[in-house]
Amino acid sequence: MSESPSMTTIDKLGEFGLIDHLTRRFKLNNASSLKGIGDDAAVISSDSKRVLVSTDMLVEGVHFDLMYTPLRHLGYKAVVVNLSDIYAMNGTPRQITFSIAISSRFTVEALDEIYEGIHHACDIYGVDLVGGDTTTSLKGLIISVTAIGEAEDEKIVYRNGAKEGDLICVTGDLGAAFLGLQILEREKRLFLENPEIQPELDDQKYLVGRQLKPEARKEIIEHFAEIGLKPTAMMDISDGLSSDILHICKQSGVGCEINEPRVPVSEDAYEQAVKFNMDPINCALNGGEDYELLFTVDSEDETKIADHPFISVIGQITARENGAVLLTKGGNRHNLVAQGWKHF
Ligand code: ADP
Ligand code: MG
Repeated sequence: MSESPSMTTIDKLGEFGLIDHLTRRFKLNNASSLKGIGDDAAVISSDSKRVLVSTDMLVEGVHFDLMYTPLRHLGYKAVVVNLSDIYAMNGTPRQITFSIAISSRFTVEALDEIYEGIHHACDIYGVDLVGGDTTTSLKGLIISVTAIGEAEDEKIVYRNGAKEGDLICVTGDLGAAFLGLQILEREKRLFLENPEIQPELDDQKYLVGRQLKPEARKEIIEHFAEIGLKPTAMMDISDGLSSDILHICKQSGVGCEINEPRVPVSEDAYEQAVKFNMDPINCALNGGEDYELLFTVDSEDETKIADHPFISVIGQITARENGAVLLTKGGNRHNLVAQGWKHF
């Protein structure tokens, strides 16, 4: 980020001036947000519902690369991936806190971009920013988001409720975010080799968008409430389908069979995988960051999900002894192994 005369350094505002500046546009919209930014702690009322809390930390160079991540998208994504965790419990997110460690190379204008993304996410998902922390980092940007949500006790869906005979479902399509990342990484390499080259991303909008600006499946959770469906187990797909279904199997003490041809892959993802000489199904099984919902339902509930345009039934829960199995197009059985990304 090069300094230009129109850029405002952070020390011009001071810590409190900066916090005021960044958060001035945020209003509280949820009745449970009793006190937001400005005191020693936020105050939230919880009625008789359960409170759900989820936190994520994002480190520059590990979880995101500022060479190709617009700051606005970074703010948006940091919020959305946390909201996704609350939805994955069948809950409703209400508040977030946003903490940030910045080095002196960041200007107020750069932070404004991040907060614009946060504001947009708060708007779309109906959550309130109620606090955070602002501190200095010697090198690199670090972000931590906490999402707070609510759910009635009997509506909460854990990872451990899947049972033999349940149907395994996913929303949307898989692998696109991973392929979007491959495209961005390729453009970065080309740029580093020859800075004159302009990226060609226009016909990759879907894949790149899935990586840079993911959405959480709010409307699916609302749909469950409308039709009175409670999944038996649920989680969001952040590491990859293979690794995430294994979490459900392990915690539920069951096995599974995934039908490879039923795993949803978008046309864009399919074509791009082929261009990269990658197996599309491998991208769908092991690529991460799609933030789709993976859930199981009692087989008696099959008709409730059968015709939904964004829900695919991809397999069945089996007895634990059968293990976790992938049934291929050709009728072969492979053991599912977790190859998902691990950011350690
Ligand atoms: P304290 O010193 O008591 O921790 P701070 O000065 O860090 O308080 O924060 C003052 C208020 O501003 C608090 O309500 C805090 O939650 C909020 N806040 C601080 N940093 C941020 C941030 N980056 N984003 C949103 N709210 C923030
Ligand atoms: Mg503080």
